[in-house]
Amino acid sequence: MSQAPEKIRCDACPVMCYIAPGQTGACDRYANDAGRIIRTDPVVMLSHAMEGGQRIVPFAARDWDGAAVPADTFVTGIGAGTTYPDYKPAPFIVSSRVDGADMVTVVTEAIFSYCGVKVKVDTDRFLGPEGAMVRVQGEPVGHVTTAEYGSQMLSIGGIHHLTGGSKAEGRITCAAMLALCNGEAVEMQVDGGSSLVVQAGCPPIVDGTAERRMRVGCGSATIGMFASQWRGLVDEVVVVDDHITGVVSEHQAGKVLGWEPTGIRIKGHRSTPDAISGSANRVSAGEARS
Ligand code: SF4
Repeated sequence: MSQAPEKIRCDACPVMCYIAPGQTGACDRYANDAGRIIRTDPVVMLSHAMEGGQRIVPFAARDWDGAAVPADTFVTGIGAGTTYPDYKPAPFIVSSRVDGADMVTVVTEAIFSYCGVKVKVDTDRFLGPEGAMVRVQGEPVGHVTTAEYGSQMLSIGGIHHLTGGSKAEGRITCAAMLALCNGEAVEMQVDGGSSLVVQAGCPPIVDGTAERRMRVGCGSATIGMFASQWRGLVDEVVVVDDHITGVVSEHQAGKVLGWEPTGIRIKGHRSTPDAISGSANRVSAGEARS
């Protein structure tokens, strides 16, 4: 009678998997290779990736001039660490000296259930109320969060969706995050809001329409940027915006340029030239909240 092949135990994390030969543990990061525990992902070195012509994100593609990160010893997180909570030392601790300063790089990995993705959707369109659930294939994977600098923001992932809900919810959340991070398109639906297709590096598709343009800022910001170019060409500029509408003759930029009042009045809650400093409602002169 042949004996069953011997499983060996991985002790890289508290799960302590017994792994049969040729198999991986529960996390797929460690495997039993002929009776030896090995890592399944290679350690990625930036310099090796560049030499090998592998795909890297653009910020790392430029020439490194300041030498703040030594090119030969910049270890990425991929394949370099063990798990969290980590009672063993990280398997890769890289030391070097840069301009006389000691540099130590230690990389570990966070468990996936703690991961999240913040998605910046470059559109002026209203995607849904803040806090509204974002769904993929009907499963909740995140929510609409605070808009930032005019872009709509989604918060995807996190422990409540990855491990706190149903199996389908966790699986689809995980798949959506992976797809987003790998630059793939993901279809989403906001409760009480829009349907979306988002993909890194591509304009979002909102309710079936691909986004083509986006405003550079609110009406006040636009006036701040362009007031000097408009000066002398027109008598007045009103930048209508759903956040803050700007009126150049009343705006501080207009005041600085000596723009004469034109008498055009905009309905809405106005800020005034003598706005109370620090008031959340009064951002700067020449704005009307519509
Ligand atoms: S690191 Fe992975 S393979 Fe090793 S014990 Fe933990 S879950 Fe299992």
